Amino acid sequence: MNYFSSEFKLGILGGGQLGKMLLNETRKFDIQTYVLDPSAEAPSKIACNRFFQGDLMDFDTVYNFGKQVDVLTFEIENVNVDALEKLEHDGIKVYPSSKNLRTIQNKATQKLFYLDHNLPTSAFSRFAYLSEIEDAISNGGLKLPFVWKCTQFGYDGTGVKMVRTLHDLENLPKGECIAEELVDFKTELAVIVARNSAGDVKTYPVVEMEFHPEANQVEYVICPARITESIAQKAQEVALAVSKAYNHVGLLAVELFLTKNDTLLINEVAPRPHNSGHQTIEASYTSQFEQHLRAVLNLPLGETKSKLGGIMVNLVGAENYTGDVVYENIEKIMEMEGVTPHIYGKKQTRPFRKMGHVTIVNENLDTARQIAEQVKNTIRVIS
Ligand code: ADP
Repeated sequence: MNYFSSEFKLGILGGGQLGKMLLNETRKFDIQTYVLDPSAEAPSKIACNRFFQGDLMDFDTVYNFGKQVDVLTFEIENVNVDALEKLEHDGIKVYPSSKNLRTIQNKATQKLFYLDHNLPTSAFSRFAYLSEIEDAISNGGLKLPFVWKCTQFGYDGTGVKMVRTLHDLENLPKGECIAEELVDFKTELAVIVARNSAGDVKTYPVVEMEFHPEANQVEYVICPARITESIAQKAQEVALAVSKAYNHVGLLAVELFLTKNDTLLINEVAPRPHNSGHQTIEASYTSQFEQHLRAVLNLPLGETKSKLGGIMVNLVGAENYTGDVVYENIEKIMEMEGVTPHIYGKKQTRPFRKMGHVTIVNENLDTARQIAEQVKNTIRVIS
């Protein structure tokens, strides 16, 4: 099929920052795009060919949108999967598939999938209601501590809570959840796997999330991860095994825990471009967004090697600031070597809202890490 400068239409469900960065690539290739998002101020609005405002969870809205395009993809998992299934029956190509999305959308079915495929993940139990957790604790069937996760609609840690005492269960949503073994991990790693429908597969280098020592928040994504060659190879192997089990098309970001005794456990996957791959825009031969496009259009996959060491710092809204956003000291960080800010285009900041990110590239990863810390200490997202 001719995608370039043609009548071909790629539909994208979700018009947030991931969609916006994907659209930089469709613009580069002159591929037509239609975007559906609930917000009239979606970051993707300015870069697509046609924008549709509507509810991503509504069957008719998603179905009617999908009927107008040739290939449909998404940048967010919370979309109406029944509509995707019907579109597939109607002959629209949906990548990643509705089947995989259905498994991934629910953390319990996702974990069961790893068990069924003999893939390593932490032990867990599934509960239909929060009250069943309380019962399980009182009758000795479940031991503290554990990690509570709501099975659906969590994002960026909103559906996750460490439960150390019974008090920690107060005020949690009452619905379906899992209780996961608390993993004593050394670090969190991620591997992005790209696969097209012809079955070509490529993996990006393993990245590492460096946490703030007190706030327990990811501060830096570091590429390549500072781990031994043999652990990196093992992480790639696990990610490839996950990719094979899903038989997915598009990108699959596989998040892993590296435990204190060097075991790798799958935390979860995202079937789309991912926060752990943003540094690929500046640091890699092929950015994750171009790669996602190549994969869903069954084009040859691009080289995944890095040109330089890359570090990504998220720009989140500072605490105590809500309102029209100001990027304080952005000029100062732009004077630093190898620093590129990405501003997502959200006009309003809120505490911890993801507003942008900054990439730092350098031939020397230690130097990049030092500059990343200066970036982190200089720029502030305020109002
Ligand atoms: P989300 O889907 O919101 O990103 P995750 O399942 O990735 O949620 O969990 C968010 C964070 O919580 C992880 O990055 C990790 O730091 C921590 N976490 C999640 N599960 C566990 C676990 N079983 N043991 C220890 N920490 C965990």
